[in-house]
Amino acid sequence: MAGYPLVLDLTGRRVVVVGGGQVAARRVAALRAAGAHVLVVAPELDPALGEVEVARRRYATGDLTGAWLAVAATNGLAVNALVAADAEAAGIWCVRADDGANSPARTPAVANSAGVSVAVSCEPPDPRRSVAIRDTIRLLLDTGGLPLRHHRPAVAPAGGQGPPVAGQVALVGGGPGDPGLLTVRGRQLLAQADLVVVDKLAPREWLDLLDPATEIIDAGKAPHAHNMTQDEINAALVSHANAGRRVVRLKGGDPYVFGRGGEELIACAAAGIAVEVVPGVTSAVAVPASAGIPVTHRGVTQEFTVVSAHLDPGAEGTTVDYDALARSRGTLVFLMGVGRLPRITDELVARGRSATTPVAVIESGTTKAERVTIGTLTDIAVRAADAQPPAVIVVGDVVGLRP
Ligand code: SAH
Repeated sequence: MAGYPLVLDLTGRRVVVVGGGQVAARRVAALRAAGAHVLVVAPELDPALGEVEVARRRYATGDLTGAWLAVAATNGLAVNALVAADAEAAGIWCVRADDGANSPARTPAVANSAGVSVAVSCEPPDPRRSVAIRDTIRLLLDTGGLPLRHHRPAVAPAGGQGPPVAGQVALVGGGPGDPGLLTVRGRQLLAQADLVVVDKLAPREWLDLLDPATEIIDAGKAPHAHNMTQDEINAALVSHANAGRRVVRLKGGDPYVFGRGGEELIACAAAGIAVEVVPGVTSAVAVPASAGIPVTHRGVTQEFTVVSAHLDPGAEGTTVDYDALARSRGTLVFLMGVGRLPRITDELVARGRSATTPVAVIESGTTKAERVTIGTLTDIAVRAADAQPPAVIVVGDVVGLRP
């Protein structure tokens, strides 16, 4: 007999809990969270019970008057049996905390996430097994392993009729490439999204696991295909959120490390759209780590600098101080620099950084295609001449720590 699962609205309804120990305290907390009007009957009270209406005495027949539900949670079997018998006689459901098998009503183990409740109970009653299964389900719910999307109209109601649908944008850092390096929060938001605007370097494996109804806009396709301009991306985020949709902007690495996340934030904020920013694991740190290179190391370097090599060292408009980089003994991490490797290394040596400084070029870090090339400021440009983006260049003695 599997019983009959039921959800009770206990708001304002009287529930009598018999017993004042820790078991009772846990039940009372859950019942109060459900809005029940709880009366505790017990001669002694655990402080964990908190502020609650109490009849400070032993249980007596008649105490269940007016109750919709009774909970027998004393450590005395006879008392619990009496509560259960009285409840039975009065037509009140009773939960026996001590004896699930002989309890007319049982409470399942419950996982709640984003407005979804999953209740687990086993037959015969096995609270530990229920809790173990519940915990697994909770993890799936929290990490987006189960779809929690509400199915609701994608478009705001016209003419102000019906409840307004508030769209929102989440700027989610997708990590450096390995799908396992997306954050739990990012995964959760992806599972709830109506629409995902995705970058070229974002962990696209996750897109295959989305609800098929989730729309996907590819903002950066192959290198020579049409890529959306930043203005087009900003406009898409704003217009879809204004239509009441939950938009995830899935970006590579961290949204704010050379990711133009700041521009997207400003565009959304200017349009009055709620934005959540979810930091990501940046390739600047994670890609060297994946290749066995720590960006700092006690006794080797106490600083690391992350540099965009998007512009040539000599380009007008560059704000990078190559003199300072050459003078520093810290680790240098160059992003977007693989096509400019000779220019970068020449510049650093010309300005005084030792020509024997170790350098690593790491292509497609954290993915199956990861490739690491090691050299020095003198020879890395030749050694890594065929390196392809995306790649990170690491300059500094920490490169020598690679096992
Ligand atoms: N916001 C991203 C960086 C965007 S700039 C972050 O925080 O990681 C894009 C550059 O990041 C690439 O040109 C490359 O230098 C680097 N990059 C991103 N993913 C990479 C990967 N898996 N392997 C090597 N470099 C990567």
